[in-house]
Amino acid sequence: VWNDCLEVIRENVGEENFNTWFKPIAPLRVDGDVLTIQVPSQFFYEWLEDNYVPVLKKAIHTVLGPTGRLEYSVVVDSGDKQTPPVSVSYPVNGAGNRRSAVNGNAFGSDDYSPFTYKALNPQTVNSRLNTTYTFDNFVEGDCNRLARSAGLAVAKKPGVTSFNPLMLYGGVGVGKTHLVQAIGNDIKNNMPSKVVLYIDQNDFTTQFLNALQNHKVQEFQNFYLQVDLLILDDVQFLAGREKTQEMFFHIFNQLHQSGKQIIMTSDCPPRDMKGFQERLLSRFKWGLTADLQEPDFETKLAIINRKMLADGIQIPTEVSEYLAYSVDTNLRDMEGVLNSLIFHATLLKKEIDLELAKEVLKNIIKEIQSDVSVDFIQKTVSEYFKVDLDAMKGKVKKREIVIPRQVAMYFCKRYTQLTLALIGENFGGRDHSTVIHALESVEDMMKTDPNFKASVEELGKKLKLRVS
Ligand code: ADP
Ligand code: MG
Repeated sequence: VWNDCLEVIRENVGEENFNTWFKPIAPLRVDGDVLTIQVPSQFFYEWLEDNYVPVLKKAIHTVLGPTGRLEYSVVVDSGDKQTPPVSVSYPVNGAGNRRSAVNGNAFGSDDYSPFTYKALNPQTVNSRLNTTYTFDNFVEGDCNRLARSAGLAVAKKPGVTSFNPLMLYGGVGVGKTHLVQAIGNDIKNNMPSKVVLYIDQNDFTTQFLNALQNHKVQEFQNFYLQVDLLILDDVQFLAGREKTQEMFFHIFNQLHQSGKQIIMTSDCPPRDMKGFQERLLSRFKWGLTADLQEPDFETKLAIINRKMLADGIQIPTEVSEYLAYSVDTNLRDMEGVLNSLIFHATLLKKEIDLELAKEVLKNIIKEIQSDVSVDFIQKTVSEYFKVDLDAMKGKVKKREIVIPRQVAMYFCKRYTQLTLALIGENFGGRDHSTVIHALESVEDMMKTDPNFKASVEELGKKLKLRVS
């Protein structure tokens, strides 16, 4: 009987889904018009119920007739003992069975689940929040105004506004993590009954994979479904992680349906995200998407002053202006520079003046730059100008190749510690005078051709942010 059902199912789901979700099922028995199947886990059962009811229904009705029913037996991970079967009869009202059980019993019912659910206590759940990130110390500027006010709105009424999910995106070090943690802290402080959870993609994935390995997916999921505010940081790294995406999709839907707030950050807007299931991306766009831009001069200045003030350190205006102007990579680097300055001022009792600032900056910028490799520069430049990488590194003398090559040399000089001779080595064994010529010609062209200058500057930013 089950094999006949599988025939029907196979025709209706893709090969991959069939292998994932139906191959592992074992038929247990047929009793009149009731077919009992054994599924490997509770999660598995829920997944089938959430995603494959129409298909299962069709299969059962085709094979067993209109009164056919399906029962599940869920294998519990501890030992061989099987739970009493969960009964599902078709026809039912759509996929209603499971969901009503969940909603009706708030995870508490033993007759629904073989697992005992432990209700989360919002006071004792580890929210994984860093309490130093607050709205108070998040400086508002043109670069983050929209994102900040969206964040405030969500913090006032989590799950209630149409900003669900709230998706904040922007480059490295623009304040995404700070802002989402500020929202989390705010809600935790003002609404103590809410379960708040901050997690970054990496930890989420690790947790999930562990759960998968230890057959604890159900517990994993139960935990997440009890969260009132879920903050998932750096969601872009879920790209290509099929299983984790499916799990997140599942959690997302359930939380969203029950009016729980979801906040995510990413390095780009959903429309540019690669390696994601379409259905997940479309969910990402349901609520509000807001960007954080690279901080402008005024915002940087305000951040510097606030930080120094908080640490009780006097900093001359010319120094803060110098820093706001010179640190043009990102705020994380700025944080490094400021911490180093504070260290000098408090522990070494040095006065913060322009000279000290320059010295600190020089050291830090060197660190920032030293991990940009020649390879990375060459690759980024060749991609940017759409020329062949090997040709660019080689001897070809065509103008459309020569210019990118010179630009790449220029950045090698600026962003690596390599000598001119070594730079030449990396470009088809040219000598150092060729490299000098390249540097000069790039600088000349930047003076005379504003478009070229803009391209070089844009490339420079990409390289500094280490994004290709
Ligand atoms: P992202 O998550 O976007 O990479 P972070 O939130 O980690 O960036 O920010 C980097 C650093 O800059 C953090 O120390 C953060 O506190 C600080 N920062 C970013 N934006 C602001 C802001 N608007 N006001 C104050 N500090 C900020
Ligand atoms: Mg971050």
